[in-house]
Amino acid sequence: MKGLLRYIPGFRSGKTWKRAAAGIYYALALRIGLEIGLGFTLSAVGALLCMSSFVDTIVHKRKKKSIKKSILALMVAFILVITGPLLPLEGPDTPVGPGVSHREEEEPPGSGKEKDAVEKPPESHEFKVHFIDVGQGDAVLLQTPEQNVLIDGGDRGSGVVKYIKNLGVQELHLVVGTHAHADHIGGLIDVLKNIPVKEVIDPAVPHTTKTFEDYLTLIDSKDIKFTEGRAGMTRDIGGGVMEVLHPISPSSDDLNDSSIVVKVTMGEVSFLFTGDVERVSEEEMLARNEPLKSTILKSPHHGSSTSSTPAFIRAVNPDTAIIMCGRDNKYGHPHRETLETYTKMGIDIYRTDIYGDIIITTDGQTYDININKPIE
Ligand SMILES: [Zn+2]
Repeated sequence: MKGLLRYIPGFRSGKTWKRAAAGIYYALALRIGLEIGLGFTLSAVGALLCMSSFVDTIVHKRKKKSIKKSILALMVAFILVITGPLLPLEGPDTPVGPGVSHREEEEPPGSGKEKDAVEKPPESHEFKVHFIDVGQGDAVLLQTPEQNVLIDGGDRGSGVVKYIKNLGVQELHLVVGTHAHADHIGGLIDVLKNIPVKEVIDPAVPHTTKTFEDYLTLIDSKDIKFTEGRAGMTRDIGGGVMEVLHPISPSSDDLNDSSIVVKVTMGEVSFLFTGDVERVSEEEMLARNEPLKSTILKSPHHGSSTSSTPAFIRAVNPDTAIIMCGRDNKYGHPHRETLETYTKMGIDIYRTDIYGDIIITTDGQTYDININKPIE
């Protein structure tokens, strides 16, 4: 033991005060080391050894003694000092002593933290609604502080997957397929194939097209939770609430009227997504006194005059209507009557056939409409 102490700075001379001071120094170095990483302790011990062996070297040289041992000690000490910072720090961002540089801990790729950062929208208090330009069809992505929800996906090859992936979204918590027509669920086939989906809400009305069959087969084969969307259902979508206002008992006689209508509310700002409902459904919702009033309306059925009856629009009483339709579409959407109804009521109209993608951002108090530039 005594032999070993000869090499430890502070214990070599046998003087009590030196031993006490060295003891406190080592205890402190160990204590801090346990907090922020033992690399610190290593460097602190190395620094003291460095100093003492440096002094030894000078003294021995003056006394013409051999300096081999003290040079060796100096080298060992130097290695200790530089090895310390290479060991990872463990504790909080604590200011550390000399000889130890603080390194930011790097997040290993594929870790949970990194995944969260990608899936969550950047401003956690904001709510973003993307009315994606898919030509003639509907596709709306909601980004709440906690979830990503897609309402319809346009037709097959609509590019909705690319749009969603470009945002860094890697998972959809919920997909609403409003009704079985291809301009709403066709693109959902691409989505289901390429993006993990937790749950699909659908009117569950039988329909015999290849598109609808493929869509159901995919949901089944991927073991995705399938929920029949019925009026009265609500979903917490993380920072906002989604309520289903329609249908009650859909039939396959008119698929448009089987459309799921959802209202999404964040604070004072609300959105009404109406699929392709027609006059009949609008009257049913009015008769049931559904809470239709909303800040922003996704115009029913691409702005067709078979929907947007004045009584319904009065009840919704929106500031802004978004019409989702293709340029020069064969149905003549949006119809003149619908545009007149909105204009007469002082409702601002935004159309995907004119503006392309329309993105609304809200903090629950006010909202901003972001468009790129009008399509030439
Ligand atoms: Zn449609």
